Amino acid sequence: MNIVFLGPPGAGKGTMAERVADESGLAHVSTGDIFRDNIRNETELGRAVKEIIDGGHLVPDELTIELVQDRLHEADVQLGWILDGFPRTRSQAEALSEFARVDLVILLNISDEEVIRRLSGRRVHPESGRTYHVQFNPPAKEGHDDVTGEPLITRDDDDEHAIQMRLSVYKEQTEPVIAYYRKRKLLVDVDASGTIDAVATKIHALLKKQQPS
Ligand code: ADP
Ligand code: ADP
Repeated sequence: MNIVFLGPPGAGKGTMAERVADESGLAHVSTGDIFRDNIRNETELGRAVKEIIDGGHLVPDELTIELVQDRLHEADVQLGWILDGFPRTRSQAEALSEFARVDLVILLNISDEEVIRRLSGRRVHPESGRTYHVQFNPPAKEGHDDVTGEPLITRDDDDEHAIQMRLSVYKEQTEPVIAYYRKRKLLVDVDASGTIDAVATKIHALLKKQQPS
């Protein structure tokens, strides 16, 4: 099964995709995580995208599409995949349809106020991409990853200016992707304003319905 998670920045795409991947064996593919790994490792790609990402803009389609196409040909995606953060433009959605089959698109809906609450408290473990929230999902030891004990960081693009930019980019460039999948009857809306457990339960029920036993 191949699933796309859509939704504004901070909606919980990464958090939910990680849970579903753990339970299902589907590969979690996050374009944001791939870009951030490249930035951390100072690769050529990382150097090319750092400023774009820190400013809250989108990485060019051509580059992003090629990256995802390569990733979806790796060995660990045999059971299927969960795309988190891609497609983010209509061109990306069209390109994806040419090299892969999308079975289900889950749209996580939250308000702009909730976006700001979630992003301003988000902390991440850079190596693994594990995500916490100072209030809604705190680590056992403040400021440290539960698994490795290493320090957590605040993402460079989780500052006020970049958050506003990402919200406006989402409205202009990513909302058309919602219409694209709705028209193809692949999209299911999920109210993502509840707690992490409440949203995860809804997604669980939805996926169960998709896979009749
Ligand atoms: P996205 O991948 O959509 O940007 P994340 O999964 O990184 O979103 O979640 C953004 C922030 O909000 C993180 O700090 C995460 O711990 C927190 N979060 C995710 N889902 C919820 C939820 N349902 N309720 C409260 N906080 C949440
Ligand atoms: P969010 O938490 O805002 O959902 P992501 O981790 O998915 O963030 O992405 C972080 C940044 O990486 C984006 O703001 C953008 O600069 C870049 N990025 C990620 N995915 C894409 C994509 N599909 N197309 C273009 N840029 C992307």
